[in-house]
Amino acid sequence: MIKVRFPDGNELSYDDGITPFEIAEKISPSLARDILSVEYNDEIIETKTKLFIDGNIKFLKWNDKQGKKAFWHSTAHLLAQVILDLYPNSKLTIGPPIENGFYYDVDFQNSTFSENDFSKIENKMIEEARKDHCFEMREISNSDALSYYEKQKNEYKCELIKGLGNEKITFCDHANFTDLCKGGHIPSTKFIKSVKLLNTAGAYWRGDENNKQLTRIYGISFPKEKLLKEYLQLLQEAKKRDHRLLGKQLGLFTFSKNVGLGLPLWLPEGTELRSRLEGFLKDAQKKAGYEMVITPHIGNKKLYVQSGHYDKYGESTFFPIKTPKEDEEFLLKPMNCPHHCEIYSSRKWSYKDLPVRYAEFGTVYRYEQSGELHGLTRVRGFTQDDAHIFCTQDQLLDEFTKVIDLVLYVFKSLGFDEFTAQISLRDVENTDKYIGSDEVWNLAENAILEAAKSKNLNYRTEYGEAAFYGPKLDFMVKDALNREWQLGTIQVDYNLPERFDLTFKNKNNEDERPVMIHRAPFGSLERFIAILIEHTAGVFPLWLSTNQITLISVGEKHRNYTEKVLNLLEKDEIRASADFRNETVSKKILEAEKKKTHIMGIIGDKEIEKNEVTIRLRGGNLVGSFKLDTLSAYISKKINESREINLNI
Ligand SMILES: [Zn+2]
Ligand SMILES: [Zn+2]
Repeated sequence: MIKVRFPDGNELSYDDGITPFEIAEKISPSLARDILSVEYNDEIIETKTKLFIDGNIKFLKWNDKQGKKAFWHSTAHLLAQVILDLYPNSKLTIGPPIENGFYYDVDFQNSTFSENDFSKIENKMIEEARKDHCFEMREISNSDALSYYEKQKNEYKCELIKGLGNEKITFCDHANFTDLCKGGHIPSTKFIKSVKLLNTAGAYWRGDENNKQLTRIYGISFPKEKLLKEYLQLLQEAKKRDHRLLGKQLGLFTFSKNVGLGLPLWLPEGTELRSRLEGFLKDAQKKAGYEMVITPHIGNKKLYVQSGHYDKYGESTFFPIKTPKEDEEFLLKPMNCPHHCEIYSSRKWSYKDLPVRYAEFGTVYRYEQSGELHGLTRVRGFTQDDAHIFCTQDQLLDEFTKVIDLVLYVFKSLGFDEFTAQISLRDVENTDKYIGSDEVWNLAENAILEAAKSKNLNYRTEYGEAAFYGPKLDFMVKDALNREWQLGTIQVDYNLPERFDLTFKNKNNEDERPVMIHRAPFGSLERFIAILIEHTAGVFPLWLSTNQITLISVGEKHRNYTEKVLNLLEKDEIRASADFRNETVSKKILEAEKKKTHIMGIIGDKEIEKNEVTIRLRGGNLVGSFKLDTLSAYISKKINESREINLNI
């Protein structure tokens, strides 16, 4: 008998050799219908693997990340089967699941293949899926595996097998099709109810441009047809919200090949938006006791060698700039931290002075390959909303907690209501790759865990994901389309204070090392604004909007009165503009809607007569008319409603 423990802590005994699928069937037939994959003792196994040892079991369904992974992995097999069937000359290479769906890289050789063939392939895949083929794993010797693919003249799979060395080799069979595979399948093809092939792209074998270019086919599949429809709708909505498109439409930013790839140029409207975000964070940081500093865009290479960044990230920096006479090497600043360490070092500190918190909107430069660049989310120059806190060990927990408060305040004010956190800790079995002693790592890791618990954060813990210099907490926000984005990092660091010999005098008048915290709630302004655009579809919260109300005058004779209203609003610090063009009211409304204006104030004969403005909200809701002496109060109330007011620090 074996003992199997369930996530709720329940434990049951079963005969040796029972499979997870059989266990699920015994619990309930509906569970057996839903399980896609199984985790046993922290490893993904097949639902039909016979169990002979005690263990913790977790059934994975569609809503589990690993459940989707198994689903899409299995669909990639199905695609491969159909490809080989329809294009017998083609050679299969690799086909992994990805965040949304899967892909398969195929060498079609001389077969003609195009996206026009998609529906033919999709139909055949569904036809095969309905036949309820089971996925069966089997072990195979290295030589048998090789000869199987040599017969197929598939040099790609042969290369993969040779690369496995002495590792155990497994094949997966379903229908009449076999693929080299490590496992992690759904029970059978019948779970796959809908398939959509999305697009193709060129991909070099093993990512090396000296190798042959293969055809990468991207696809996605679902256990219900309804889910595919929803996904396609989402995809369409995401296209409309693409920040590259909206950024252009709203006149926020542009790129120029003459300036260089990945180097955004901020237009006036975008600069205004960016300054408002900076101002918002500056105010919050001031309340939270931060001080602003400014450091240059370049730094001596030695600085980054000393900090360890050069060793670790040297490849992602631009080549050094040399001074013409002294031949000194400077780098475009890849990180602000070492600069802030030098600011800390510029004077003597007592424990009474700590914590000190230096904040900077610091622009940094990193080399990204041109193919990796993407709008504002992957750029070569970006501005971090960076800050470094230097504190005593005793203050660490409190400081870390305060940073969490600040990050949550930022998220709430910008309408990101759904978020989770990830705490990245060391890989305890592989401590060599981290800088710093076990003792300091334990202290830091415990402080993060405690702070996260005290704030009731919804977090998961990942071992082995910490940076080389310290553990960290990352926030992931969900946007309006349910996509997850990584934002806001808080990181403890015992390493830089050591490398820069940072000290303060403790109570006994002895030198002691401060602890350092790196944090950036937005991450970078570029990336954050991109995410904000896609989350809000360009309709920024009213408090942030650079144009909170547009006044629309009906005709030329209403101009003077409209100007008077404009002055009044501006005096009350409401960001207003007016559209005096010789156009119809409906055209002006359309234009304001296109610019994502929240509030429109319409002014014609009737309004002037009654000393009023008629208010129309974005989307068409007519709120009514306001006397001039109540208009500002109404708009201010709306502005306040649009943001989180309290920063509890
Ligand atoms: Zn597989
Ligand atoms: Zn830093």
